[in-house]
Amino acid sequence: MTEQTHAFQAEVSRLLHIVVHSLYSEKEIFLRELISNASDACDRLRYLALTRPELLDGGGELLVTLEADSDHGTLVIADNGIGMNREELAENLGTIARSGTAAFLQQLSGDAVRDMSLIGQFGVGFYSAFMVASRVDVYSRKAGETQGWHWSSEGSGTFSIGEAADVARGTRILLRLREDAREFLERASLERIVRRYSDHIALPILLREGGKEERLNRAAALWTRPRAEISPEQYTDFYRHVSHGFDEPWATIHQRAEGKIEYAALLFIPSQPPFDLFNPDRKHAVKLYVRRVFITDDCQDLIPPYLRFLRGIVDSEDLPLNVSREMLQENPVLARIRHALVKRVFSELETRAKEDQAGYLAFWRQFGAVLKEGIYEDFENRERILKLARFQSSGSDGLISLEEYLARMKPGQEAIYFIAADRIDAALRSPQIEGFRAKGVEVLLLADPVDDFWVGTGLSYEGKPFRSVTRAGADLDRIAADPEQAQTQPAEAPDESESATLIALFRQSLGDQVKDVRLSRRLTDSPVCLVAAEGDMDMHLARVLRRARQIEGETPRILEINGTHPLIRQLAAMARAGGQAERIGEAAHLLLDQARILEGEAPADPGAFARRLADAVARALVA
Ligand code: ADP
Ligand code: MG
Repeated sequence: MTEQTHAFQAEVSRLLHIVVHSLYSEKEIFLRELISNASDACDRLRYLALTRPELLDGGGELLVTLEADSDHGTLVIADNGIGMNREELAENLGTIARSGTAAFLQQLSGDAVRDMSLIGQFGVGFYSAFMVASRVDVYSRKAGETQGWHWSSEGSGTFSIGEAADVARGTRILLRLREDAREFLERASLERIVRRYSDHIALPILLREGGKEERLNRAAALWTRPRAEISPEQYTDFYRHVSHGFDEPWATIHQRAEGKIEYAALLFIPSQPPFDLFNPDRKHAVKLYVRRVFITDDCQDLIPPYLRFLRGIVDSEDLPLNVSREMLQENPVLARIRHALVKRVFSELETRAKEDQAGYLAFWRQFGAVLKEGIYEDFENRERILKLARFQSSGSDGLISLEEYLARMKPGQEAIYFIAADRIDAALRSPQIEGFRAKGVEVLLLADPVDDFWVGTGLSYEGKPFRSVTRAGADLDRIAADPEQAQTQPAEAPDESESATLIALFRQSLGDQVKDVRLSRRLTDSPVCLVAAEGDMDMHLARVLRRARQIEGETPRILEINGTHPLIRQLAAMARAGGQAERIGEAAHLLLDQARILEGEAPADPGAFARRLADAVARALVA
């Protein structure tokens, strides 16, 4: 018999170190994890056996068995499910195959409480056995194969795998409990933990003790039971089971549809965002069952990507049990279930938004950026999402709805104004919004990456188009001034002729670095800003796309100058007096670079910028 020693993948070693050394609380979840694996293994075998009944090789009812041996200090968790062969043992219990592992491990800090919830979500799963065990032995035989295998490890860097005789189908995990984990040998503890975390598991969980067998869970799929019989704690425990989370669900949606399509759904909106929420694959994790049989947790047609924060299960009565992956694609039954679920989720959100505003905002802060993807992906529900959306705005500290925005629009205002930036504070500092603020016109501050995409699709809300302030300077003339804000209004309209020479000189020295130079209607405090020409791409969207290498090169922008600003006035006077063209040209470049920096761009030529700045400072010191 050959025993082979293997090293754990580096990430696993790191994880094991954390599992063993920094997780003091809630050790008991190891049992939840191992039972959940055992139950998954049974679900998978049951599903495969639908088409290959011989896999069950006469092996009766699928179940999970616990055996505690206090004399030897060992606890066994066994199942007669799908089992693992040599390669699968090495792969599943030696590596972390999921994507995002490295990124995840970087988030771990050594802070036990925080790491615990992250690890739980990530599904440290099997490795949690090392929280309580000094050594773990796994005996496994894969359904349909004859050879059994023995995997063994003390959780410190290596594991070994060798052949084993007389292994029953499925997996038997033997834990040598540490001294401080002896409580997990006691019947009362095991019963309490199983009730707490695994009561809803739809197979029997038996405790075998001194030749006796006792059933610990009720084994009725929770979602099949009437709502009235389910306690909030049971819902929460089920939520934690399916999400691997430690938080409370923010919302619980338990729905049973009877009629044209029949299904039960038990869905949750978490209160903490899952760690993989912004993974590029945008996958959801809702599990699909057919008549109580687990089918898959990767049926992407079940839930649209912009609701991927949902956790839970959907159990259909109409799909065939032996449904294949291909059949799940563009399946009309699934399409109808999805349609109904989406509606149900929206109505839940709408109710909460109305009845519990503070609670709703907590949801929005966590998941709003995801939900907003639906604005451009789900045409049918666009209005509903826009109604549910909350925004930061220049006119209020908290988040506002579009309803509130519309109610506060000024006479003559016909559009919903926004500015897109990388961060809210940068948006607030943008010179482009000065004139809007001065007139008391509210500007939405958009700083989620997704915002650039939906807002760029030219949509409107209640007949009001969304317009970028980087483009909408001329609109300001049509909007009546707000008397309350009169003191911050721009001084009387600047005299065009005063700056005509200056503008000509600016145009000349900046050349094609800008599309044009013109007098601004929107600036009150800043001397200059950049704006997009009508019909050009929004400046922030262009920057986002450039960073993602979706577009190349820069579109020249329009430089607007503030004719009432003392600096511009002085330059204009110099220009009218004549003879200082070169110094005015230098100032033009400096001001253009300043405007670029405010936009989050680098100066066009950093070397020249540094030199001009040094010259200007030196001259100011001499004067
Ligand atoms: P997860 O369950 O989230 O995939 P785990 O660390 O809990 O992560 O388990 C890793 C993998 O090991 C599982 O995906 C499964 O393939 C395999 N595995 C674990 N326990 C069992 C078991 N009792 N029977 C069969 N396979 C198992
Ligand atoms: Mg698991």
